[in-house]
Amino acid sequence: MFDLDRITRENIRNLKPYSSARSEFTGDAAVFLDANENPFNTECNRYPDPLQRVIKGQIAALRHVRPGQIFLGNGSDEPIDLLYRAFCEPGKSNAVAMDPTYGMYEVAAGINGVEYRKVLLSDAFTLDVDQLLAATDAATRLLFVCSPNNPTGNTLPHTDLQRLVAGFEGIVVIDEAYNDFSEEPSMLAELDRWPNLVVLQTFSKAWGLAGIRLGMAFASEDIVSVLTKIKYPYNINILTQRMVHERLLHPEKVQDVIGTLVSERRRMAGVWKETGCIEEVFPSQANFLLVKTQDANKLYNYLVGQGIIVRNRNNVSLCKGCLRLTIGTPEENDRITAALKAYSEANPQK
Ligand SMILES: *Cc1c(COP(=O)(O)O)cnc(C)c1O
Repeated sequence: MFDLDRITRENIRNLKPYSSARSEFTGDAAVFLDANENPFNTECNRYPDPLQRVIKGQIAALRHVRPGQIFLGNGSDEPIDLLYRAFCEPGKSNAVAMDPTYGMYEVAAGINGVEYRKVLLSDAFTLDVDQLLAATDAATRLLFVCSPNNPTGNTLPHTDLQRLVAGFEGIVVIDEAYNDFSEEPSMLAELDRWPNLVVLQTFSKAWGLAGIRLGMAFASEDIVSVLTKIKYPYNINILTQRMVHERLLHPEKVQDVIGTLVSERRRMAGVWKETGCIEEVFPSQANFLLVKTQDANKLYNYLVGQGIIVRNRNNVSLCKGCLRLTIGTPEENDRITAALKAYSEANPQK
């Protein structure tokens, strides 16, 4: 049985959170003399809403969840870090994750003094659920899976994710940063079913707002309460809240961008395979393609010389020879295609 109190660190359970001026009074008033703000208007002279009620209402309506099931952070990195701080005892607890995957789970474990256990994916980047569960023990508090996975691009079957959440008594974090580009359903629809599920999404990818830093963690009201208790009081600034508010007035617009990027991904998967230097393009449900070449460092350096920066994944588990290419605009994609062809002509493959 999942018991949130059992896995919450004692100091966090007993913590009395900071109470900000703006969270103690929440109604309408004409005169605010409670927070030592500057009264003269600069557009930003007031503190932001610490509970981000307006945008949480919009996100709740869009994603069909309750506002209390949403935690907002300074990028997804914030909820990742807070999950360690709330639920992992430094030097005692551990976290389990698949390998290769997004690097921040391991960095955040390191920062928090938490052992990080990796379970290698298969050569086809599939996950063995039983192997992942077998790597957990009584001290495992967090289990991270990423689908579509970064840097491999593939999704994990929904039934596997369900088996993980059902089979583990700690918190299962499913990172859906790229779900907007995928045909797989989100696990969000099952939030009410699993008390130990945390789903991460972000405004950094499909929404095109990486620069404003807004990440979302969806979970039970109880888990969200713990994260809210330990966050910085004003963690989401006023400019970010305003911009997301505006963007969420027209959520349908994002579908056009997603449609373009997905069709470009399909186009490039075919085109890049024919450039002469790409041996394999791995199937992807994200806004990038992992490609295999004979000498990843050489091709990477060549592209840098052409003013094109890609992500070199040569030293990542199972990714020897691989580069991760983000899907750009059609013009950018044509530019890298031309560079790949020129490289192939200068470096004929054996
Ligand atoms: C890009 C990415 C994120 C988003 O991180 P932010 O901090 O929200 O920008 C989260 N998870 C994965 C796997 C990613 O690749």
